[in-house]
Amino acid sequence: MKIENSIKFVFPGLSVNEHTARAVVSAFLIQTDPTVEELADIRTAVSEAVTNCIVHGYRNTSGDVELIIKILPQREIYIRIKDKGCGIPDVQKAMEPLFTTAPNEERAGLGFAVMQSFMDSIRVRSKPGEGTTVTMRKKLRSSSCRIS
Ligand code: ATP
Ligand code: MG
Repeated sequence: MKIENSIKFVFPGLSVNEHTARAVVSAFLIQTDPTVEELADIRTAVSEAVTNCIVHGYRNTSGDVELIIKILPQREIYIRIKDKGCGIPDVQKAMEPLFTTAPNEERAGLGFAVMQSFMDSIRVRSKPGEGTTVTMRKKLRSSSCRIS
C-alpha cells in the first residue's frame, strides 16, 4: 500500500473523545480539499466506529482506542479504528441493520449500516475477549470534478 500521508492517534475510550476523534479527522483530511459532504460522511462513519469502541467494546472496562488515517494515491482515504475490548461473537449478525445488544439504551442498531452507506467499503475483524478492528475506505472525488 503506497501511503502519501498518515497519522496514528491513540486516546482513552472516553465519550468526550468521540468529539476529539471527529476533530482529528477534519484537521488531518483538510489537506485533501474534500467537499463538505465527503468530510461529513467520513466524520460520521468514524464517530459511529469510535462510539462503538467506547460504549460496547469497553462497556465494563476501560482502554485505548486507536485511530489510523492514511491518504492513499488517487485520493483514497483509509481509516482503521481499533479497540482491545470485549470483541463481537458474531460479526455478520452485529452488522445487520437494527441489530443491537443495547436496546434499552436508545441504541438503534444502525451504526454499522451508517458506516456502510457513508464509506465505499468496510471490513470488521473481531475476536471475543481480544477486541475489534474496523477498516474503512472512501475515494474522494477528483478536484477537477468539483463545482465550486
Ligand atoms: P447505534 O450505533 O445505532 O447507536 P448499536 O451501536 O447497537 O446502535 P451498531 O453500531 O450497528 O449498533 O453495532 C451493532 C452491535 O455490534 C452493537 O450493539 C454491539 O453488540 C456490537 N458492537 C459494535 N461495535 C463493537 C465493538 N467495538 N466492540 C464490541 N461490540 C461491538
Ligand atoms: Mg453503534
